[in-house]
Order: sequence, then C-alpha cells, then structure tokens
Amino acid sequence: AKSNGGSGTAFFEQTMHAEAEQRLAIEHALKESVAGRLFELYAQPQVDRLGNEIGCELLLRWTHPVHGSISPLHFIPIAEATGDIIPLGAWVVEQACRLLAQLQEAGIERTVSVNVSPRQFRHVAFVDGVRSMLQQTGAPSGRLIFEVTEGLLIENLEETAARMRELTAMGVRFSIDDFGTGYSSLAYLKRLPIHELKIDRSFVRDLPDDASDKAIMQSILSIAHHLQLQVVAEGVETAAQADLLIESGCTIIQGYFFGRPRPVQEWFDGAVG
Ligand code: C2E
Ligand code: CA
Ligand code: CA
Ligand code: CA
Repeated sequence: AKSNGGSGTAFFEQTMHAEAEQRLAIEHALKESVAGRLFELYAQPQVDRLGNEIGCELLLRWTHPVHGSISPLHFIPIAEATGDIIPLGAWVVEQACRLLAQLQEAGIERTVSVNVSPRQFRHVAFVDGVRSMLQQTGAPSGRLIFEVTEGLLIENLEETAARMRELTAMGVRFSIDDFGTGYSSLAYLKRLPIHELKIDRSFVRDLPDDASDKAIMQSILSIAHHLQLQVVAEGVETAAQADLLIESGCTIIQGYFFGRPRPVQEWFDGAVG
C-alpha cells in the first residue's frame, strides 16, 4: 500500500466500503422479499436419451423492484449466511410439492428436482417440514428429488446420513449436485442413500474436444454404473455434447440444448400439453 502512495489504500477501502454497503442493501432486500414473496420459480427440463422429458429442476429467480434481477449465484450464499435460506427454501419445497400434486392430478409422470442448501438441510425443522408438506399436498414423494452438494457431506456425516435415511423412508430421493467439484472423498457414496449424480457443467462445457473433461465424464459414468446410480449431465448446450454423453451411457440430459429454464407455470402448461 505504501508504494501506491496511500491512494491505492484509500481506493481499496472505498471499494470495500461500497461492497459492504451493497451487501447490506441486498441482505435487507432479501428479508423484505422473503416476507413479501417476491421470488419466482423457473423450471428447466430434463430429458432421457430419446429426448423425452422426464422431469425438471426448479431454479429460483429474484427480481427486486429497485436492484433489478439478481442471480442466485449471488443471493443464495447471502441467504445461507443470514439464515433467510430457511424460509425461502421451505417455500421452494412447498412449491415443488404443489407442482408434483398438480402433475399427478393431470396424470403426468415427471420428477421435480429441488436444490437444498446445507444450512437448510441441517435446520432442525427440515425433515418434519418436508413430511408435513408431502402430507398436506398429497404429492407423490417418489418423484421429489433433493439436490445436495458434496459440501453438505463433509461435516457431521452421521447426522447427515440419519436425516437422509429419514427422508428416503418417506420416498424422497437424493442427487449429488456439481459432482466432482467438491473436496469430499468418494467413500460417502456407499454410506449414504444416494440415487443420482449430476455431472457439473464445468466438465461438460468443453466436450467433445477436451480430452481431460472427456476422461472425467467417462469416469463419473463408470462409478455411477458400478454403484447403480442414475446420472444427469447439466449445462448441455450442443448436439455434439448430447451425442457424446448419450453414447457414453449417460441417461439424463439437462441444458439449453433441450430447454432453458422458464416460469414454472409455463413449464407445467407445456408438460400438460
Ligand atoms: P446449479 O444447481 O448447478 O444449477 C444449474 C445452473 O446452470 C442454473 O443457473 C441454470 O440456469 C444454469 N444452466 C442450465 N443449463 C445451462 C446451459 O446449458 N448453459 C449454461 N451456461 N447454463 C445452464 P442458475 O439458475 O443461475 O442457478 C445458479 C445456482 O444457484 C444453481 O446452480 C444452484 O446452486 C443455486 N440455486 C438456484 N436455485 C436454488 C434454490 O432454489 N435453492 C438453492 N439452495 N440453490 C439454488
Ligand atoms: Ca442443481
Ligand atoms: Ca452445477
Ligand atoms: Ca450447484
């Protein structure tokens, strides 16, 4: 800082200050928006190897009247830190259950995947909240999939395992999101009730050309095959990517190539036909 003659430091402090202010503003807006239900859910289709839709992933969207549209990549970590993810995540689970019940009523078989963040999963009321939501809505629990990241599995493995088993007993299934990007060991795969792995977009993006990504993708498919797990590839944008994945044995594909996330009602209307 000295070599900058001090002005660098001042600028740095100003930036820090602006960032802290912005963060506070977002935190405040988040609380208001959770209370005021200013969030929307989008649904992105998942298709099988023949291109038939088998389900969707629900993704949060937040458009604030003043701050505009804010990416979940930005607000989810803040909601995790403040704890707002607990009511917000409960709302997402509720919407997922209502959607599953509506689909069932319409006679349509689709899975609905929901992202569950670690703090939400570990909250004391999570398991009971899911149970009562399933009961209230009459949703077919076997079509509800919780996407969790490897980060969740690092700490308190025993407690996490117990919770996962409680939820599995209700019929809910588990998917490991962003598989291979975390720091956890593979040992958990045999100790936890896991149904599915999701190949992260970072391993799909440079297919089919990148040899390392191709090797990683094939290794994930091989592990999954031997452990009898289902695999979803995310972020599939091209026919060449889809072809290689399907050729390599991947059973479910998700990405812009087959469909962008769109408002959940629109997705529902499309599914009902
Ligand atoms: P994710 O779970 O890995 O979700 C996939 C992200 O990739 C989504 O971004 C999706 O819109 C985007 N995507 C899908 N297909 C393609 C594609 O072909 N190309 C490209 N470039 N992108 C694609 P999004 O919606 O911005 O969400 C970002 C992250 O925010 C999610 O990553 C997830 O970790 C988190 N998130 C979103 N909704 C929720 C939620 O309801 N609860 C929690 N806890 N986290 C959420
Ligand atoms: Ca996900
Ligand atoms: Ca991902
Ligand atoms: Ca993720």
